Amino acid sequence: MDQVVIVGGGPGGYEAALVASQLGGSVTLVEDEGLGGSAVLTGTVPSKTLIATADVMTEVRESAELGVRLDAAGCADDDPDHGVAVDLSAVNARVLDLATTQSADIAERLRAEHVTILDGRARLDGPERVVATLKDGTEQALDADIVLIATGSRPRELATAPLDGERILSWRHLYALTELPERLIVVGSGVTGAEFASAYDALGSDVVLVSSRDRVLPGEDADAAQVLEDVFTRRGMTVLSRSRAASVVRSGDGVVVTLADGRTVEGSHCLLAVGSIPNTEGLGLETTRVETDRNGSIVVDRVSRTKARGVYAAGDCTGVLPLASVAAMQGRIAMWHALGDAVAPLDLLTVSSNVFTTPEIATVGVSQQQVDDHVVPARQVVLRLRGNPRAKMQGNRDGFVKLFCRSVTGIVIGGVVVAPRASELIYPISLAISQRLTVDQLSASFTVYPSLSGSIAEAARRLHGTRSIT
Ligand SMILES: Cc1cc2nc3c(=O)[nH]c(=O)nc-3n(C[C@H](O)[C@H](O)[C@H](O)COP(=O)(O)OP(=O)(O)OC[C@H]3O[C@@H](n4cnc5c(N)ncnc54)[C@H](O)[C@@H]3O)c2cc1C
Repeated sequence: MDQVVIVGGGPGGYEAALVASQLGGSVTLVEDEGLGGSAVLTGTVPSKTLIATADVMTEVRESAELGVRLDAAGCADDDPDHGVAVDLSAVNARVLDLATTQSADIAERLRAEHVTILDGRARLDGPERVVATLKDGTEQALDADIVLIATGSRPRELATAPLDGERILSWRHLYALTELPERLIVVGSGVTGAEFASAYDALGSDVVLVSSRDRVLPGEDADAAQVLEDVFTRRGMTVLSRSRAASVVRSGDGVVVTLADGRTVEGSHCLLAVGSIPNTEGLGLETTRVETDRNGSIVVDRVSRTKARGVYAAGDCTGVLPLASVAAMQGRIAMWHALGDAVAPLDLLTVSSNVFTTPEIATVGVSQQQVDDHVVPARQVVLRLRGNPRAKMQGNRDGFVKLFCRSVTGIVIGGVVVAPRASELIYPISLAISQRLTVDQLSASFTVYPSLSGSIAEAARRLHGTRSIT
């Protein structure tokens, strides 16, 4: 029986453990902070749970147009929240409770699949030995035929903006807050910064988003980012573009952010969302042939192999694509490959991802940038959401469906959806890409009338023939 040792119990590690056990390996998983990893305890799950409350607040705030009157007795006429308020300590208690429960569910599932879980910190001692330092201080050496490193990443910090966990925060600190920040300055307008800016704005904080780039979400579809920036501004958020934060300091009960051009911004709290650092130090990698790149990420191929025979790596520590879904797939692929099962290499063009702002932005396949740069020849169509009957009924006017297909064959190769619950709407496009469906095949299926997914079928219908429509 192959001895499999997995370092790290996030989605990269625990999904791999389930596959390895299913394929007959004897599996030990070493986890330092809690099963589920940052995905369950501090990243994906907590943030999306918080955002669920934020979504309700947005619906409340925008329900007046639909004829809903929530004004409580005595509530000021000009109160945009109609007297509805968020109890952040109750929200965060729910967030933490859900995360803890999910972590316990994962532990239970792993034990049921006969995975040995060690509560401690591990390092490699050569490619075939892992040493775990357990919580009681004892060491346990584990012989391994196969090692998977899935140690994740942590928030990047700035020397000029020391975190204090009270007012100057990383996303790991947010769930300890018991009161809504009065004025939250979010530094960084990538996915994490945009999601928290959107959420806290909806929850009722006055939000300032500091972005060093020309627009928010520099890595996303430019049209989608523009819609979001317009919505942010319309809702009253201050977006400071081309503004690099040079330092953040405490000032009494608040914070002062100094920008590179000397301007200052004052707030009650500051959230730093300036990227992540792979957890690859102190892992004993120097005792193996495992290589890291200049960012410290472990170099892997498309079946998760490192440069050391028998040592695989998955998830954020590889820097391939920082998504829980990708971490899990890299982990599974590693075990399929190592234990001799059928395996297809990781294909990033089939990965769908979502930015959980309001509205959401979901993307899959080739990007507008690749099409504009003629890297991929394609035809495209953009359908604005305001023309969709269901969107009109629901009062949604911000967003669109964008579809890319091969110029000659009409095979679907990419899409962007900007809409409420875009994360749910992207799936048909994802399916079309992975199954190599043409626009005609995509539009041949019935959609419900009225529905937002009707716009996806309509976009595909418009791409019948050879013209691009924008
Ligand atoms: C705020 C936020 C929101 C996000 N939202 C989404 C989302 O909506 N959708 C999505 O797909 N992704 C999202 N992500 C990204 C997602 O959380 C990560 O891509 C995912 O957690 C990566 O999984 P992983 O297994 O590589 O690492 P992790 O989940 O970080 O797990 C790694 C684990 O390894 C442990 N570990 C580290 N070193 C050692 C050691 N030496 N010994 C033992 N254990 C060790 C750590 O304690 C940790 O538990 C979000 C991230 C953040 C920060």
